[in-house]
Amino acid sequence: MRKPIIAGNWKMNKTATEAVALVELLKEKVANKDVKVVFCPPYTSLVAVKEGLDGSTVGLGAQNMHFEDNGAFTGEISADMLLDLGVEYVIIGHSERRQYFNETNETVNKKLHKALEKGLIPIVCVGESLQEREEGIQEAVVTTQVCEAFKNVQADDAAKTVVAYEPIWAIGTGKTATSDQAEEVCRWIRENLEKIYDSEVAQTVRIQYGGSVNASNVDELMGMPNIDGALVGGASLKEDFVRIVQFGA
Ligand code: PGA
Repeated sequence: MRKPIIAGNWKMNKTATEAVALVELLKEKVANKDVKVVFCPPYTSLVAVKEGLDGSTVGLGAQNMHFEDNGAFTGEISADMLLDLGVEYVIIGHSERRQYFNETNETVNKKLHKALEKGLIPIVCVGESLQEREEGIQEAVVTTQVCEAFKNVQADDAAKTVVAYEPIWAIGTGKTATSDQAEEVCRWIRENLEKIYDSEVAQTVRIQYGGSVNASNVDELMGMPNIDGALVGGASLKEDFVRIVQFGA
């Protein structure tokens, strides 16, 4: 049985002061032994959120990291820097990073290797654009993203990874994929992992859906056999997140 994982991607929202207030609002209400809950605040709030979460089972994640260990990379943050703050998870290859910050399948692969080498749990994001869906090539796009992300990643490392299927057209748009559309692509992702590795890895990896997940659609999405969690943007900044992590209740 895969333990569901629901992560809040706070994106570029909340100062450290505001982040503490959000942690206070949510942390007791989201504690749930049957679901792994993770907060992914901006880098500048990681320390404050870590302190605010003291004694809580909520995990701490970053939204990005660099694939190099250190050096002349102005403005970048390394895996060791995150680990030193008590970060356990890292989002890799979010579509906004691919779209606005030139991340490619190749950089995603390098970041995945680095995160796994360092012991961070990666949340690797994949998903097609609206145009790609309209052209009917979403399966090919997501298959390529998965194959390239996991290139040369060993099976035991791959099994530790979380994959998030986030169709770009559903992110921040209020337009959620139907549960059938989301399930179909999550199933393809699992089938790909089985082809690359084996059924054990494929059955171990947790696959999240992301894109306008909210308190009203989470139950149906989480009811699908290949959807093991959610990566939540906008609704993770509000009390709605409490209902989301209590999906099915
Ligand atoms: P959204 O964002 O829930 O606001 O659509 C999801 C994400 O980008 O991870």
